[in-house]
Amino acid sequence: MIRNFTFFVPVKLVFGEGKLEAAGEEAKAYGKKALVVTTGDFFIKTGLVDRLKAILKKSGVEAFHYWDVSPNPLNTEIDAAAAFAKKNGCELCIGLGGGSAIDTAKAAAIVLGHGRPIWDFCTGATAAPITAKTLPIIAITTTAGTGSEGTQWSVITNKAVKEKPGIGSDHTFAKVAIVDPELMVSMPPRTTASTGFDALAHSIEAYTSTLSTPITDLYCEQAIRLIGKYLRRAVKDGADKEARNGMAYANTLAGFSIAVGIVTVCHGLAHSVGGIANTTHGECLAAMTPQTMRFSMRGNPDKFKNIGMFLRDEPANLGQDRLEDSVREVERLIADAGLANGLGKQGVKESDIEAIADGVIRYMGGSIAIDPMNPGKKDLVEILKKSM
Ligand code: NAD
Repeated sequence: MIRNFTFFVPVKLVFGEGKLEAAGEEAKAYGKKALVVTTGDFFIKTGLVDRLKAILKKSGVEAFHYWDVSPNPLNTEIDAAAAFAKKNGCELCIGLGGGSAIDTAKAAAIVLGHGRPIWDFCTGATAAPITAKTLPIIAITTTAGTGSEGTQWSVITNKAVKEKPGIGSDHTFAKVAIVDPELMVSMPPRTTASTGFDALAHSIEAYTSTLSTPITDLYCEQAIRLIGKYLRRAVKDGADKEARNGMAYANTLAGFSIAVGIVTVCHGLAHSVGGIANTTHGECLAAMTPQTMRFSMRGNPDKFKNIGMFLRDEPANLGQDRLEDSVREVERLIADAGLANGLGKQGVKESDIEAIADGVIRYMGGSIAIDPMNPGKKDLVEILKKSM
């Protein structure tokens, strides 16, 4: 019997090698002046920013490039990007890059539409609502990934309060997501590994969340199978086109899944860790996923036992209890991708653990409420200790 559910992911997906070329025709429907955000100057050096500017210009869209943004973008950087866009009269926001660039474009679109600093929209119960005033967003992803091109989420770090919440509404989906696997070839192995693991964590969490739906289940299963098949290959040989293509598709499926099924305890913890220590998102998830799986699998064993089978791309479950086997399969992938570093090696201190657990409860409570085991503070502390 199919449970009642709602599925809403209003994103036009343009997928495939060379599809960056579609950016101008897609953008022109939303305005003549576009903010283009990248994190840092890497894509200036590679010529990608000039290429995008030329594509936009051909369709009558002028690009205003802003690149003073860090990976894990700060609220102050987002406000500055929005001020730059306002000064130049931008009517739409384009993120060119990984989750950090896309999330900055989304957040700048919120700031520009509402005329308020981004942190006003991040403060839990007293946060300002994110409405249809949000400017149109176009997401061009260069990592695989956060899936941000397919989600309503924008993740923002505030160093002053040491928090890293995710915000979003029905109005913060990209109008258009361009997923061009050719743009991912330049990712170094470590970025390929960490971003690819993020996509796996999304798939595992959205698949086992209490908000999962029959549609997200299909997406998650396919994403996990593709990641099991292609992540090692993409890390080993970044020019492996088939592997890049498979990972790009898996990333987008996982993104659509977390727009509906959302994420559970591991992402809740990773956000709180990220507010306190400037970790690489995917590496932080890799440190905690095995322990969060061991904790949460008791709440939904039927689904957790499938994960190992999906990762090995097996056609059917062989029948035995495969719960621990699923965790071991994830651990094997973590080791093969070079991500086997505990939180301690990523700059997290034992003395941070209490504050991290408190942060999850304070501003990432939604993620634990939809976890199949709904962890409390004691459980979070235990998971963190085992993940050091
Ligand atoms: P990122 O955007 O922070 O990029 C990491 C680094 O890789 C940057 O230096 C970037 O310039 C570089 N890079 C990106 N693409 C490259 C390419 N093709 N070649 C070479 N270098 C490249 O990494 P990310 O993991 O994609 O994004 C992480 C951020 O996204 C975090 O803040 C995380 O919390 C957030 N996030 C958002 C969502 C969402 O739904 N919005 C979901 C998960 C994570």
